[in-house]
Amino acid sequence: MSLSYDQLTKQDFEQLNTDLIGRDSLDVLRYAANEFKGKLVYACSFGAEAMVLLDLLSKVQKNAQILFLDTDFHFTETYQLIEQVKKRYPSFQINMAKPSLTPEEQRLQFGDRLWERNPDQCCQLRKLDVLERELQPYHAWLSGLRRQQSPTRATTQFINQDHRFKKIKVCPLIHWTEEEIWMYIELHQLPYNKLHDQQYPSIGCTYCTSPVAAGGDERSGRWSGSGKTECGLHAPIKGDES
Ligand code: SF4
Repeated sequence: MSLSYDQLTKQDFEQLNTDLIGRDSLDVLRYAANEFKGKLVYACSFGAEAMVLLDLLSKVQKNAQILFLDTDFHFTETYQLIEQVKKRYPSFQINMAKPSLTPEEQRLQFGDRLWERNPDQCCQLRKLDVLERELQPYHAWLSGLRRQQSPTRATTQFINQDHRFKKIKVCPLIHWTEEEIWMYIELHQLPYNKLHDQQYPSIGCTYCTSPVAAGGDERSGRWSGSGKTECGLHAPIKGDES
């Protein structure tokens, strides 16, 4: 039986991270693939970090489970990239997970343009509820978070207590810089979302993603002008500070 969220105390998580001090991303992936075996899934955004993490994961677990939260609102370029990834890594099991409501059903129940009027509710329906549902069979999930991305991500560890979903969240890329991500992509000739070449450093749904001025914060194009900075998948909740 692999480790699970319920079995571990805060001290256990600290010890796991102490054991991984000085290890690199591949070491962390090997640890996770071995420890969680069939109970590990990568919730993949298909952003630039994801290209690196997918490539590293392919060296460790060729038939890894990949989960994409298909909100129905992604850019055409994102869906095209996923097709490229399927060709490059044919053994990956990619699950395009849909919300329980179609866009039209959401419009009928919650009104037009929910993403403008209440983006938190829209993200809840189209992302958080879906991730919670799809994580059920797993003990741990992988994420490509980097500490440098935002203040809320600056204290992310390799192995994290995910109080929101009651899972173990494994983040092998915490120490990577944006420059290192792009160097790896170029060095290994990895596919990437072509919108990155058009001033979109961070890419989500079409309605909530805009280009960023040169030199701007890499996540400032997400929910621009709304005050919202995270869809909620990685936002701290009560208990995270403990
Ligand atoms: S990012 Fe925007 S469109 Fe996508 S689920 Fe969240 S609020 Fe809705």
